[in-house]
Amino acid sequence: METKVIKADRKNIKKEDLTEAGEILRAGGLVAFPTETVYGLGGDGLNPDASKKIYAAKGRPSDNPLIIHIADKEDIKKLAVDIPDLAWKLADKFWPGPMTMILKKGPAVPRETTGDLDTVAIRLPSDEIARTLIRESQVFVAAPSANSSGRPSPTKAEHVIEDLSGKIDMIIDGGSCDIGLESSIIDLSGDKPLILRPGFITREDFEAVAEGVEYDKAVIAKTPEKNVVAKAPGMKYRHYAPKGTITIVEGDTDKVVEKINAEVALNESRGVRTAVICSDENKSRYKCKNVYDLGSRKHELDITSSLFDVLRQLDSDEIGVIFAESFDELRLSQAIMNRLRKAAGYNTVRV
Ligand code: AMP
Ligand code: MG
Repeated sequence: METKVIKADRKNIKKEDLTEAGEILRAGGLVAFPTETVYGLGGDGLNPDASKKIYAAKGRPSDNPLIIHIADKEDIKKLAVDIPDLAWKLADKFWPGPMTMILKKGPAVPRETTGDLDTVAIRLPSDEIARTLIRESQVFVAAPSANSSGRPSPTKAEHVIEDLSGKIDMIIDGGSCDIGLESSIIDLSGDKPLILRPGFITREDFEAVAEGVEYDKAVIAKTPEKNVVAKAPGMKYRHYAPKGTITIVEGDTDKVVEKINAEVALNESRGVRTAVICSDENKSRYKCKNVYDLGSRKHELDITSSLFDVLRQLDSDEIGVIFAESFDELRLSQAIMNRLRKAAGYNTVRV
């Protein structure tokens, strides 16, 4: 299949620009599009065949459910049942934006879309391209991240092209994603609100609206907890990991720099292609041929929006061994470290 790539400017988007993309979605085809979090691979969420195509294009296990994207809050009534008051409060506060809610599934949503669950994940994105596309398509757009299963989520159209070119109908190139990490997921289908995936909207943000909100245990685990049954089925799958091995080095900054430099020297002396992932603040302190600077700790969105790009560069630069600083003092620490720990296979040393 030939994949058509079109450009779109989120600051000046007209619905005519997305007419063809909307038609593709309505006809059961697949279109990758930018959102404020990461690029999504969209298909008609109420069409089981379109959902099956999404799983096939990504190589995604069929029990890993999809998030349905809407353009109008009221549409949750068409997708979910037994909607608690809290869902409306959260929608008023955080939508449009990087929050996904899990609610009890309504009869319109096929099990092919929910990974056979009785619940449905719904998000109303703020990105103008995404919202215009959803409206233009007149369908509810199921869209997981537009990467091959297991690879880092795409934050630029080039990443989507790398993974999915030839497998989907269209890619809308809207440049880089502002946040660069997937949405925060909050489960409202149980007795108490539970954060299944940390993102730009933090626990503290949720607490301002939702009393007693907690993290699912698997989210904050520093080691893979084999006995914890993952609430979000996606949690159990290998994620983000580059071909090289990542070790996160935690502790006092001076000691971290010293430890990483010693490890780099050892690996480079053995002829291993070695890299460091760090922040702007410490960049100049590393003696290593390949230093990947995520940005300043003072600009957290620089860090979040460059993380997945750097994880992909490690593979294209054929790096074998990687040492990463920890980012545990930031507002978005849970979100960043959740991805970094998964990428590292939870491999961490403390100095
Ligand atoms: P992605 O769109 O690839 O960022 O991932 C979608 C993720 O949303 C899945 O891997 C799950 O973790 C989560 N998710 C989607 N639907 C549900 C659901 N019904 N219940 C729990 N988690 C869900
Ligand atoms: Mg994903």
